[in-house]
Amino acid sequence: MKAFEYATAHSTASARELVADKGAYIAGGNDLLGLLKEYLVEPNILVNIKSLPGMNKIEHARSHWTIGALVTVAQIENDADIKKHFSGLHEAAGDVASQQIRNVATVGGNLAQHSRCWYFRHRDTKCLKKNGDLCFARNGENRYHSLFTGNTCISPVISSLATVFAALDATAIVLREGKEVRLSMAELYQRAWENPLAHNSLGQGDLIVRVEIPTARTRSAFMQVSDKHAFDWALVSCAAAAEVVGGKLKSPRVALGSISNVPHQVETANQFLDGKVLDDATATQAADLILKDAKPLEHNAYKVPMAHALIRRTLLKLKGEA
Ligand SMILES: Cc1cc2nc3c(=O)[nH]c(=O)nc-3n(C[C@H](O)[C@H](O)[C@H](O)COP(=O)(O)OP(=O)(O)OC[C@H]3O[C@@H](n4cnc5c(N)ncnc54)[C@H](O)[C@@H]3O)c2cc1C
Ligand code: SF4
Repeated sequence: MKAFEYATAHSTASARELVADKGAYIAGGNDLLGLLKEYLVEPNILVNIKSLPGMNKIEHARSHWTIGALVTVAQIENDADIKKHFSGLHEAAGDVASQQIRNVATVGGNLAQHSRCWYFRHRDTKCLKKNGDLCFARNGENRYHSLFTGNTCISPVISSLATVFAALDATAIVLREGKEVRLSMAELYQRAWENPLAHNSLGQGDLIVRVEIPTARTRSAFMQVSDKHAFDWALVSCAAAAEVVGGKLKSPRVALGSISNVPHQVETANQFLDGKVLDDATATQAADLILKDAKPLEHNAYKVPMAHALIRRTLLKLKGEA
């Protein structure tokens, strides 16, 4: 690990000033410390943001709930109101890593965590994401990689919270050069879709301050499949959210994680589900639409039937049947 300075920020303005153009914010440190140890990032200063005031709260308003960027994953998991009103978010939080990690991992850090591609994580491998010439995964070990991508890099977004926030149509509020910018989950990762060097759309010094979740979708569900039951990232994850009026879905949204460099959403599938009474045939047709353009590679084709089953099950869970 390269030497660095360390400072604690007590305001967002001082955090931005301290991080300047070569520093990194540190929250729970679960992802950042691994990156530092492998020389994958080499900031000149770590700016501890855990003392920033007001960012560790979950607040309720009629139209939306606000989750501060310093709220921990365990806080979400243990919040009885979240469990009641956003059960999908509660389920996603409970599936993240292990209890010890959830106790310190923050919402901001979870959304901004970097790629888990093993070629990227290896300190001696210089792939496209590290300014090299090649994506080694394309013709190599791509078992954990994407079925959809907008560029040559096939490393998927693996944040469980991003998947469920996408289904809930949540907005990340990012402090960028002194001004608040509102980004949908699609926008928060759009740059990773376009540019192999990017993990998300955050620029140097951008600070996620909170996430706002609209209250309109009163039902939500999340499911993931992993190699290990606990302490593991998802091979595929799926979240669904909707309002249910007279037994019919209203404004449904389905999002998948670990299969694309953005949370994977297909608008035609959401439109197809709108106004439908959910049954197995409808859920199956939605899954067909969502995966229609999947482009499996040599070792990850298993993700297609896995995602198909997960979409069906998550939708039926939304209805209370899975
Ligand atoms: C074995 C294992 C299994 C895991 N399984 C899962 C899983 O199933 N699902 C899942 O989602 N995650 C999983 N994780 C990842 C873990 O949840 C993340 O590493 C953690 O949430 C990161 O949060 P943190 O607060 O520790 O971030 P940090 O390590 O502090 O920061 C991570 C990155 O985000 C940046 N950052 C932090 N806060 C902000 C902010 N407010 N604004 C802008 N940038 C910021 C940092 O500069 C850094 O680049 C797993 C991790 C392990 C080790
Ligand atoms: S998938 Fe992306 S991170 Fe992995 S080897 Fe290819 S370019 Fe690098």
